Amino acid sequence: MRNVPRTYLEKVILSQQVRRADFLRFMSARQKKELLKRAFYLRGKRVVHINAVADGGGVAEILASLIPYLRSLGVESDWYFINPDVGKKFFEITNKIHNALQGAPVKISGREWAEYERVGRLIASELDKIDCDVLVINDPQLLLAGHYAHLNKHKIYFSHIDTSSVFKPVWEKILPAVVSYHRIVFSNRDFVNGNLPGRKVKIFTPAIDPLAAKQKIVPQKEARLYLEKQGGVPQNCPLIIQVSRFDIWKNPMGVVQSFRIVQNTYPSAQLALVGFNIAKDNPAAHVIYKDIAAVAGKSRDIFLFFDPKGKDVLEFTVMAQNAADVIVQNSTKEGFGLVATEAMWKRQAVIGGPASGIRKQIRNGKNGFIVKSPEEMAQKIIFLLSRPAKRKRLGNSARKTVLENFLFPRLVLDHLKLYRSCLK
Ligand code: UDP
Repeated sequence: MRNVPRTYLEKVILSQQVRRADFLRFMSARQKKELLKRAFYLRGKRVVHINAVADGGGVAEILASLIPYLRSLGVESDWYFINPDVGKKFFEITNKIHNALQGAPVKISGREWAEYERVGRLIASELDKIDCDVLVINDPQLLLAGHYAHLNKHKIYFSHIDTSSVFKPVWEKILPAVVSYHRIVFSNRDFVNGNLPGRKVKIFTPAIDPLAAKQKIVPQKEARLYLEKQGGVPQNCPLIIQVSRFDIWKNPMGVVQSFRIVQNTYPSAQLALVGFNIAKDNPAAHVIYKDIAAVAGKSRDIFLFFDPKGKDVLEFTVMAQNAADVIVQNSTKEGFGLVATEAMWKRQAVIGGPASGIRKQIRNGKNGFIVKSPEEMAQKIIFLLSRPAKRKRLGNSARKTVLENFLFPRLVLDHLKLYRSCLK
């Protein structure tokens, strides 16, 4: 029998409160003035964001900050996500769609499309009961639901993934729904597909919230001690870390390969892959994790963090980002890759894969490195491990890059402009 959830959407209750003064200090006088002016125009309007999960992944990370920022500016806003009881099947299908949009040649059967449509319509009828002036749908899980809902309201579709080389049969199938939105937002100009109406398309570069607990800077020694106590990672060996969901596009297998090469030069090096399995919309994570665990075998120098049970995931993640001697982010596809931004803010010189989102942040040799193969990654890891002064210089430059380009107040201003442009 089919499991029917009581409700398809759940509201995220956010306890975090933000004071405007705390973030306005990250803005120039001109930006501040503009932000307050835009917020004033939106007073009394209600913006509702919907995405797949309340926890796990970059979109949830952004919404957890965006909603309190908007509220602090007097813009009514709420956030809903999909009740996980909607079932594994639905998330398996949306995961396939996600992968196809990132370029994987995925076969989606007629039955699967029908299920995506069925659940989409059910969610849409629930969405219709949520009062809003602007409805914002984040990512393809809810694309159809948003398409069918609130037919007379202003609707925005945010695509946070790398759609630079979509698998055409799937893209063409969802295209009518995408185009039905009033605005379509991508995180990168390279992701805009040619057959979208240009007047609807906007580009918003993602950002991190400098006020969030995730951005805390902790002395490396303290962070190493924490990782030893909480994760058994020895304190005094060179430590390489990738923080990322176990996902094919994050290429953790490539990290393990380069780590094995690094060990020829640094036999005592340790590798930690931190990818706590929080996001409910990624059932494939178990498979990838098992593959990596099989390759890592019983080796005592590779640490995998997958099961969140008994762990304070936020604290552990923050500590990992502060503890690493070298942070890698080996993505082949990436909408943006907030993990790279977060590490750069913590003055880490990140070695990134060739994904477009990562290349947007890292300028090779200036504030980190971009690599295209396990060999090249190993070479850069060895370089950074053996040149602490250079590592520090690159890390400082990385921090500056984030400060100037990828901080939250700018993103909030982008959002306010967008909502206003819809409502005008
Ligand atoms: N993250 C985390 N712990 C983990 C893995 C990821 O807190 O074990 C967080 C990470 O800090 C970041 C987000 O999840 O804020 C991932 O966002 P990103 O844009 O890098 O990738 P996505 O998962 O959305 O593809």
